[in-house]
Amino acid sequence: ETVLCILNVPFTTYTENEVIARCTDYAMDQKPHVVITAGPEFVMHAQRDPTLLPLLEGADLITPDGIGIVLAARFHGHSDLERVTGVALAEKLLAQSAARNFRVFLLGASPESNEKALNAVRALYPELVVSGRNGYFDATELPSILEQIRNFEPHILLVGLGQPRQERFIWEHRDALSVPLMIGVGGTIDILAG
Ligand code: UDP
Repeated sequence: ETVLCILNVPFTTYTENEVIARCTDYAMDQKPHVVITAGPEFVMHAQRDPTLLPLLEGADLITPDGIGIVLAARFHGHSDLERVTGVALAEKLLAQSAARNFRVFLLGASPESNEKALNAVRALYPELVVSGRNGYFDATELPSILEQIRNFEPHILLVGLGQPRQERFIWEHRDALSVPLMIGVGGTIDILAG
């Protein structure tokens, strides 16, 4: 795998299809894998906040989520970097999950939006085993949320709590959750809700 560093963020140079292929492998693995979709805002955030460095180092893949990253790559002489957004990853992995019987958990967004997203996904893929929980909770609710996710035993956990909170959540709880593939997807759950 080749990696392209932009302002010290190691972006994968995989195409979207290659990222999906790696993600479906991760989803069947025993150990947890983390994918970050990083746009310009996240890259700038990482410059100011050194606590994000271990997350960047620990991620299995960091994809360029935004035309700003693609243009920066071009400036560095890498003309064919493909944009890979959280919503594209989520949509394609949901299709893969329906075909491969992966269980998917959607954590994030408002209660209404999360519910609507679950219904929309179930309408699209009736055979898919999918569950979810809204993203508005405090520290006292955290243990029960972790337990809900663990009990569901998802292959894939999509976390839409906004960046970088969703990345911190995944990093902090990756061992406790022991989900094979975890991805921060920003506002994707709202988009799935329609
Ligand atoms: N969100 C959440 N809990 C919070 C704050 C935000 O679940 O405490 C959700 C919010 O409802 C939205 C998503 O996180 O669905 C953030 O989307 P946004 O597009 O702002 O995030 P970005 O893509 O910029 O990371």
